Amino acid sequence: MVKYGLGLMRLPLLDENDQTSVDIDEVQRMVDECMENGVNFFDTAVPYHLGKSEEALRKTLVDKYPRDSFLISDKLPLFNIQKEEDMEYYFNTSLEKLGIDYFDYYMLHNVSNWTKTIYRNIDCFSFIKQKKQEGLAKKIGISFHDKPKLLRKTLEENPELDFVLLQINYLDWDSQSFKVNELYDIVVEYGLEILVMEPLKGGTIINIPDEAEQLLKNYNPKDSTAKWGLRFSGSLDNVSYVLSGAKNHNQTRENIETFRNFKPLNLNEVELLRKTAKIINDSIAIPCTECRYCMEDGICPHNIPISEYFSLYNDAKRVGFKDFSTQQVMYRTIGLNPDYGLASDCEECGKCSKICPQKLKIPKLLKQVYEEFETTM
Ligand code: SF4
Ligand code: SF4
Repeated sequence: MVKYGLGLMRLPLLDENDQTSVDIDEVQRMVDECMENGVNFFDTAVPYHLGKSEEALRKTLVDKYPRDSFLISDKLPLFNIQKEEDMEYYFNTSLEKLGIDYFDYYMLHNVSNWTKTIYRNIDCFSFIKQKKQEGLAKKIGISFHDKPKLLRKTLEENPELDFVLLQINYLDWDSQSFKVNELYDIVVEYGLEILVMEPLKGGTIINIPDEAEQLLKNYNPKDSTAKWGLRFSGSLDNVSYVLSGAKNHNQTRENIETFRNFKPLNLNEVELLRKTAKIINDSIAIPCTECRYCMEDGICPHNIPISEYFSLYNDAKRVGFKDFSTQQVMYRTIGLNPDYGLASDCEECGKCSKICPQKLKIPKLLKQVYEEFETTM
């Protein structure tokens, strides 16, 4: 049976402008809701909330529940590895922050052409295989963000892997850029377990255009847009856990409900989602999932809050660009804060684009943001 796992990537915050201000009380309610309903899989990573996601998981889960009652998945941040000792450092620091002495699932974070030189030169695969042999990582795998050719080569060269974390959602399934259905087929061919990330594409599948929402409501007036998104990923063979974040306790409960009496999609429903995806894809200006990898410390020399700007741009695009609109005011509020850069500060160094799992041409898109928001400032 497919299971829901709680992803701790976008946790509730006490201060929306501070990613480290995790609202521990609300996370506690979310974790308790999971544990009381048999959902015991939790996914975290070093960069999530700038290290505070791992800490939040220790406080709300590890400190409260017996170790054998839950599963934790964590990741070696390939993009931070510069020398061999770094791997041991990140592995041990994550264990320490979580207050545990082994991982249930441990993976190389973001295996892609961008990180290829790092994981080949420093041999990160041998490192995780060794950890598995030592019993410190029960299952090992990769989170993958690239083309089918690289995935096949990686699985061919590393038969010891147990699982692959893939971004699967009904918006990207047929996409020519992401080739998600091909990636999925390769993992199935190798007989590995699949974990799903971004089943709701960072919320893009929740707030969908009216026309798309109406299509789904006509078929079933009761089901939410989130439920449709989760059912799509959960209906696929070999998927063991669908990892979805939640911003609060109510969303967590809704996600759990979807999986309680899980109904796989029938063929009519698959076709309906195909039509829905077309409407949504035609309406999204910038398909940023707000993962914030591009905004980690030290990447952008001007500390440009890229995902915030893209989100404002998308919202403004939906409602139409107007001076003094909510989005325009928000743009000024963020951009005129001396801690952050404006879209126009981008010097096109390209460091952010290299790290973006969605392969967005960020400097070019920031130009669009600049043209819409700054020319009237
Ligand atoms: S391309 Fe622009 S936004 Fe990206 S890291 Fe460089 S300066 Fe920052
Ligand atoms: S621009 Fe790319 S890396 Fe940055 S938040 Fe959006 S999807 Fe993530």
